Amino acid sequence: MALKKTIDVQAAVAIAAAEAIAAKTQGTFGVGGLMLDQHGNVLQSLHNNVVKDGLIFDPTAHGERQLIDWYYAERAKGRDLPAPQDITIVTSLDPCCMCAGAILAGGFNVVVAAPDKSAGINYDNSASFTALPENLRAQAGDSFSYPAILGSSLYARASMGATPKSFFIGKTISEPTQALCSLVFEATSAEVMEKFNIDLPQKALKDPATLPAGHAIVRALKQQYPDALTYRCTPHQPDAGLAPFLRQAMARDREHGGAGDAVAVLDSFGNLLLCMPGRMAQSGIRSAFMETTRAYAQLRYKLMNGATPAQQDEVRHYLGHPKDGTFVFAKGPDAGAVSFMNLGAYGSTIEGPLPLKNPAQFQYVLPTLPEAELAAICAALPPLYRNIIRIRPTQVADAALVGALSEVA
Ligand SMILES: [Zn+2]
Repeated sequence: MALKKTIDVQAAVAIAAAEAIAAKTQGTFGVGGLMLDQHGNVLQSLHNNVVKDGLIFDPTAHGERQLIDWYYAERAKGRDLPAPQDITIVTSLDPCCMCAGAILAGGFNVVVAAPDKSAGINYDNSASFTALPENLRAQAGDSFSYPAILGSSLYARASMGATPKSFFIGKTISEPTQALCSLVFEATSAEVMEKFNIDLPQKALKDPATLPAGHAIVRALKQQYPDALTYRCTPHQPDAGLAPFLRQAMARDREHGGAGDAVAVLDSFGNLLLCMPGRMAQSGIRSAFMETTRAYAQLRYKLMNGATPAQQDEVRHYLGHPKDGTFVFAKGPDAGAVSFMNLGAYGSTIEGPLPLKNPAQFQYVLPTLPEAELAAICAALPPLYRNIIRIRPTQVADAALVGALSEVA
């Protein structure tokens, strides 16, 4: 891409706004962003890609998250990029919990245009970051900038948070650009969230274990994860039979530079569909949960994209929205940035109220924090996660499963 340089916050936010418009045209969340080096050179700009071709493509494909993975991928190819503390991400919308966690995990700086009262890390507009675990708040205060919006309309604000990096000469955003960032997001938000809720209710779902071995859905599952459909438990009650699958993925997670985490997806019938490690050596934000939720969404996307309406309908019957199944984490969340990113990515995966019949959708085997501390982290999350989705990780009930993983942890 042509090298562009921007030394005014306003010019950078205008690029983010143009990306947000492109996102709206694609039919996804109207959010865009860019990454700048320490001189104001634009390294990359892109937009949200949660929805492609009218289908959920990747619930984690927010602008900031993609920019960070792009950064690590370029570094892995040998490109000489500045350290994260010299990089500034400019985003049209306040980072959600997933993106805030990813930014903090990497140590990047961020300049934010529009607020997001539902899912933004600065949802209360105070720049106090009480939505973050206490140990991450000071870092956010030092690296998250909310430049002043001049004027007297409802978009006006005083500057908040960190001062944007010194290469920025102009440090304010114009009212019309800020309004554009807000309005493009607002124009798309409800429509995209609706896409997460067109999936069939649990009682309409069909059991993929009843399909013949050569069926396209079974083949796609096995291609993604060869052990798919080889384990089954009472719905939502993983037992010791899941341990070998988690242990194998935990070992691979360590080989890939992680701390031995793994995440399994069980469907609402109790079938094992996927169990994946992270790829932390490739990118400090490719955790086991990020890899797993993305793989499951893309499996559905690949089967549905370009398929006939009847085929799409069949995929929806056999591969339900994960909210009706169970995510089983080998390790429970801690108070760090990667765990916070995972909690946010979990919210971005569910995107609506968890079914009342499935209160233990998010389970973990080995606790990292005492249950009360974990509950306090969840209770402090922005309103979308706390009041609408009601994220509540719980430990698996089966002591034998806990015992089987304790041996290797
Ligand atoms: Zn985000």
